[in-house]
Amino acid sequence: MLLSGKDVAAAMQEQMKKDVEALKSKGIKPALGIIRMGEKPSDISYEKGATKNCEAVGVEVKNYILPEGASQAELLNVIKSANEDKNVHGILLFRPLPSHINDNEARAALLPAKDMDGITDGSMAGIYSDSGAGYPPCTAESVIKILDYYKVDVAGKDVVVLGRSTVIGKPVSMLLLKKNGTVTICHSKTKDLPKKVQAADIVVVAMGRAWSVGKECFKAGQYVIDVGVNAKPNGEKGTCGDVKTEEVEPIVAGISPVPGGVGSVTSANLVSHVIAAAQAAGK
Ligand code: NAP
Repeated sequence: MLLSGKDVAAAMQEQMKKDVEALKSKGIKPALGIIRMGEKPSDISYEKGATKNCEAVGVEVKNYILPEGASQAELLNVIKSANEDKNVHGILLFRPLPSHINDNEARAALLPAKDMDGITDGSMAGIYSDSGAGYPPCTAESVIKILDYYKVDVAGKDVVVLGRSTVIGKPVSMLLLKKNGTVTICHSKTKDLPKKVQAADIVVVAMGRAWSVGKECFKAGQYVIDVGVNAKPNGEKGTCGDVKTEEVEPIVAGISPVPGGVGSVTSANLVSHVIAAAQAAGK
């Protein structure tokens, strides 16, 4: 069974439309500020998708575009003005930033309450401390949204996460732990990877290695969430995941496809964070 992220995003959208209507009836117009330096095609493409998703549910978007060569001070000024703008409830700062920019300083300048993609230390602390402060990285949280939508109970299950990055592997592991999964985090130095994956009930794959995990790793009854987004290694157009979906899908209970899986939920999740921030600001 394919675990469609598009279905998850569509269901989220319906709820978000209602939430935005409720906010607007109280005079609050939820708005996302997007800060971008330069004209990187992947940033522009994500920005277009995010804008479309925001507009579809009535969330406004304010763009702060800086030239790639803008200085650290100019970027910090823009972050400060977005932080202080009461009409902007959440901020998305595109990273990686150009190499002359001090990333730590830029992240630290962003208010955790407005940090929509879990990039500040404050948001990260919220995930690890269970304080509920800030918002988790959108992609990591999308894994949970997919499992929830398909009613895959995590409590008591053995969960294997392939990847330990700050943006996906580590935060998703903490979110799964919070749902009472028994989580094993694997990485490039892990030994006997197929054996560990075989033993799991739920597998989250976030390695960024196209079609690198095949049927030898899986067994019946497992749920697999493929976070990978990679260029197809055979030269064909389009993207593919880390898992060989075609050969794994007939074996397991469910797997999220690429494209149409986690990526479809990520952008919807960003919008849901903006709405939550607007709700919090209105309290
Ligand atoms: P990353 O920073 O490169 O991290 C990859 C992780 O995978 C590392 O922890 C690495 O281990 C581990 N790894 C690499 N090769 C491995 C192997 N052979 N066996 C076991 N572990 C291995 O990547 P990322 O930023 O987390 O992104 C992961 C994937 O998610 C990428 O394909 C990216 O494009 C995709 N992504 C998707 C979305 C979405 O919306 N769907 C959003 C963001 C990213 P070490 O730590 O030991 O090096």
